[in-house]
Amino acid sequence: MKIKQTEFVISAVRPNQYPEDGLPEIALAGRSNVGKSSLINKMMLRKNLARTSSQPGKTQQLNYYRVNEAIYLVDFPGYGYAKVSKKQREQFGVMIETYLRERQQLVLQLLVIDIRHEPSKDDVLMYEWLKHFEIPTCIVATKADKIPRSKWDKHLKQIKQTLGADKEVPVVLFSSETGLGREQLWDTILDAIDA
Ligand code: GDP
Repeated sequence: MKIKQTEFVISAVRPNQYPEDGLPEIALAGRSNVGKSSLINKMMLRKNLARTSSQPGKTQQLNYYRVNEAIYLVDFPGYGYAKVSKKQREQFGVMIETYLRERQQLVLQLLVIDIRHEPSKDDVLMYEWLKHFEIPTCIVATKADKIPRSKWDKHLKQIKQTLGADKEVPVVLFSSETGLGREQLWDTILDAIDA
């Protein structure tokens, strides 16, 4: 995929702030620090558009990035951050559940997992929501450069197993450091948009 134009559009805290131009949306979910911002930057070939150090757990908002005036990448707040209050956790639940249930433009959900670690309870819960709402999902196992290639398969298998993922669910091995998986992930996204 050739990147011609990228821009940060809005940090939306309410559905009435979501863009209204009807472009397809690819959303990203994952624990804070899993590497979502780095992944978004890598996908868009931008160094710093998605803030790599967005303060975890502060505001529950959806960050919208537009690519080639054709696609939105929608970054969910990172979850699992210890210092998040009960109220913030509830806000996250309401916002994400509503988005998954109602957002017609959502064509593909990326569930971003650190390849080194077993998915957390929150990851499993997120995956269950996606199944429940029948959202097409792609698991992205990132930070692949952090473990030896010989261990990739074993870790991917473990991740799928812990999530209880169906066989058909695509998994993309990714590294924001090396660019591994970038083209494959764009292909998966474009396929989902065409579907
Ligand atoms: P976010 O909280 O999910 O947005 O995570 P960030 O993108 O801010 O990444 C968290 C940390 O992991 C940062 O120090 C990144 O440099 C690092 N990181 C993210 N992705 C990768 C990757 O693919 N490989 C390596 N080696 N480090 C990564």
